[in-house]
Amino acid sequence: MRITPISAGRVYRVPARRQEVNSKSIRNSTEIPNIAFYGLFGCKKPDVTEKFRYGLEALDDKSMLIVTSDETVSNLMLNKVVENIDVPILKTYTLKVGEKDLINREKLEANFGIYKKNYDYYVINLSEWIWNLEVRNPKETLNTKQHFVKSGEIKKLNYGEYIGTGELHLDTHGKYKFMFNPPYSYNPTNAEGYLEVRSAVSTPEGLQSLNRQTISALTAGEKKVSNKQKEFTFWDIGGLGNIIEELRKSIIRPINYPMVYKNIRLNKGIMLYGPPRCGKTLLGKAIANEADAEFRYVNANEFKYSEVGGSEKSVRNIFKQAEDKAPFILFIDEFDAIGKKRDGSSNARFDDSVVNQFLGCMSDLEKSNAMAFVIAATNRLDLIDPALLASGRFGLHLEVPMPNLEGLKEIYDIHAKGQPIEDSVSKDELAKTMLENKFNGSDVAEMVTLGYYNALERLGINRKMDNKTFMLSDLKKIKIAQEDFTQAIAKIAKQKL
Ligand code: ADP
Repeated sequence: MRITPISAGRVYRVPARRQEVNSKSIRNSTEIPNIAFYGLFGCKKPDVTEKFRYGLEALDDKSMLIVTSDETVSNLMLNKVVENIDVPILKTYTLKVGEKDLINREKLEANFGIYKKNYDYYVINLSEWIWNLEVRNPKETLNTKQHFVKSGEIKKLNYGEYIGTGELHLDTHGKYKFMFNPPYSYNPTNAEGYLEVRSAVSTPEGLQSLNRQTISALTAGEKKVSNKQKEFTFWDIGGLGNIIEELRKSIIRPINYPMVYKNIRLNKGIMLYGPPRCGKTLLGKAIANEADAEFRYVNANEFKYSEVGGSEKSVRNIFKQAEDKAPFILFIDEFDAIGKKRDGSSNARFDDSVVNQFLGCMSDLEKSNAMAFVIAATNRLDLIDPALLASGRFGLHLEVPMPNLEGLKEIYDIHAKGQPIEDSVSKDELAKTMLENKFNGSDVAEMVTLGYYNALERLGINRKMDNKTFMLSDLKKIKIAQEDFTQAIAKIAKQKL
């Protein structure tokens, strides 16, 4: 096997003494900058090299520069090894290198990251195993493996070394893989203008790789990483447009524009009813986000204390919290567990006092100015005590029904979004079959998951994972086909029987 250098680059000498790089002086002078690994990528002044240089200049001890031709692979790799990186990564600068940047238009398959600690630079190979990152001193000979940084490995760079990429298994033509277009007029001002910058502070979800160091840096400082879970909005709910409109009318607009509703009695109790798994809880979460209100989910069974008077007390406490922290949305699931009809039996006496407490709290809430709303959800409206359903209590009743054909298509679109799905998949066909099989919203979500599993099996990806021949580049081959979905539907339908 022959090992060939692929970085045909110019290597700049570096001074023996450590010096901080002054970006201004680099830009203004024809002098060679004092950084260790400037000779990347070959050409004398290609724009990619320039961008790379500005990324390096921008690095501090809390950031990382990522050079990548495949962000999926580099992100996955980074996630895998992030805990080995002993600096926080509050910011990433990403330099994407595409085919257009290559002289011979060959696909580039090398990804790496660079970070800085004190005055030292570390390079980390974010490619798959077959691609090895070459780090070497130009005076040294090349045909030794010791300069190659393995996949996921981190190497401290010594002065005088430069980095390039190496293909250990070189093809017969000895092709260069890492060459860029010849220089053209290019006048960079700073890294942020030319590289994709993501900050762990402003967009926590944008930076997938948060190591412990990053998290403690964020929480120790004045800036906080958001710990919110995925925020559901009305866009995440399919087929319930008319209910959403009702909720806008009764809850969202009053919360957002209280001045408009100053003299009007608001419906603060809303009862959502309908078959399970059709989106009632989803609606509650989405309302809270759309109205930017506090959201608290409780299951009605939580009120069932054995201790006498405990249930009433917890009902009072939760209403007090809702009022104090308004705007507030209290979502009570499985409301029939406490709101059952009073039937005079001994068990019902326990329920009586809780129902009475609810009635009292609801009428106090109606009278108060606090923008606090209680949404109760049940699959069994018929079980609920009519006193609770009267106006002034849970006066607004909204049915969340099983999805119809259009609803199923909308729900499919929501759950299929971002999934690798063959263009040939017919949504109409799927929706028809789902309707025949009485699918609820949750079944649609399940169909997408199972469809994906089926695709993994059909495409031999499972086998590759089992025998450890899976490559991150295999990710691109995964596509869910119609047959994967129809098999999934059949399986879910069978389970429903
Ligand atoms: P419910 O409260 O009516 O029992 P959920 O809101 O908990 O049902 O729904 C369960 C899951 O099913 C949701 O998290 C979502 O993934 C999916 N789902 C249900 N209904 C819908 C819908 N209308 N649109 C999109 N997804 C839905």
